[in-house]
Amino acid sequence: MRVAVFSTRPYSMEFLKAANASFGHELVFLEAHLNEQSAPLACGFAAVCPFVNDQLDAPVLKKLRECEVRLIALRCAGHNHVDLAAAQELGLTVMHVPMYSPYAVAEHAVALIMALNRKLCRTYNRVRDGNFSLDGLMGFDMNGCVAGIIGTGRIGAIVARILQGFGLRLLVHDLHQNPAVLALGARYVELAELYAQADIISLHCPLTPATRHLIDEQALRQMRNGVMLINTSRGALVDTHAVIEALKSGKLGYLGLDVYEEEEELFFEDLSSQVIQDDVFARLLTFHNVIVTGHQAFFTRTAMENIARTTLQNIRDFEAGCAVVNVVSLEVRKRLTGRYLRPQEGERSTKHEGH
Ligand code: NAD
Repeated sequence: MRVAVFSTRPYSMEFLKAANASFGHELVFLEAHLNEQSAPLACGFAAVCPFVNDQLDAPVLKKLRECEVRLIALRCAGHNHVDLAAAQELGLTVMHVPMYSPYAVAEHAVALIMALNRKLCRTYNRVRDGNFSLDGLMGFDMNGCVAGIIGTGRIGAIVARILQGFGLRLLVHDLHQNPAVLALGARYVELAELYAQADIISLHCPLTPATRHLIDEQALRQMRNGVMLINTSRGALVDTHAVIEALKSGKLGYLGLDVYEEEEELFFEDLSSQVIQDDVFARLLTFHNVIVTGHQAFFTRTAMENIARTTLQNIRDFEAGCAVVNVVSLEVRKRLTGRYLRPQEGERSTKHEGH
């Protein structure tokens, strides 16, 4: 099948080309992001292959349909950015890669924890400058600390297992209990208890209406002084203004982010010769106890190989008329939203009384 691959970077091309040796699709690599202006580039292609920050709203989908595109083969898990109602109306099939490597993201979350605790970025810069002073570099023993993990699905469960290996006690919160996490000795608790006791809080739940700004001023107020917060899930789980205030007051002792609310304007691009226009993001970068990575938690060789293989298999299934497994429909999304917002579960997951 002829496929227009949008937002191509050298690494995406490398893995898609290698995997395509056993699929034989005709892949045309385009550097452009998919948006209203670039959509006509898809004319003559039966499928487009967009990435996580490409634009897939109704006007873009309409243009793709006018170009006779029939398949949107996302090479990512998330589909928040796709107007599924419009896709359905236009007769476009949307497919995604639901899972590629939960280990990649879990291990990155732990890397952020370790780097923040032992101040690896500061010490790296100091030592290169011939400064071997230890002032300001003291860490803490993780053994015996309390980890608070919010969301114990595929990724959160692996984080729990790794942190248990370090000797941390596990307090966890989810709408559903995961037996594998219970088997680690973790205790499922309400958010208030998790906030009050955790030394390190790591977010592994999806972005839904119930979790948008889960970590806001009120949640931060309930946390221990000097707590560490890690977000490798979705930027909007965290109210960035609130965390900046908490960093200034010392309530938040450490912050590790792989995702940011307004990341579409920044991440995946080389902006090193430009002036960053986002003042909130720029303020975040001024704190010595903050590490930001640019949505790279997924970015391992294993994950890239899996993403490429599944994306190309999705395209093959569609071509053969047997695309079922990884199709994202409005019904699938409704089912997920329903699951997340089931009344009594929604109440339990709500961050504050009456919220
Ligand atoms: P998953 O679906 O396996 O697990 C998510 C868990 O969150 C589920 O157990 C679910 O019940 C729980 N949950 C849902 N709503 C909740 C709520 N309101 N309160 C508490 N828990 C809730 O997903 P996963 O594969 O573990 O991925 C987790 C998140 O990681 C994804 O949603 C995605 O946003 C993020 N992610 C980030 C990257 C990256 O590169 N940074 C890559 C992949 C995924």
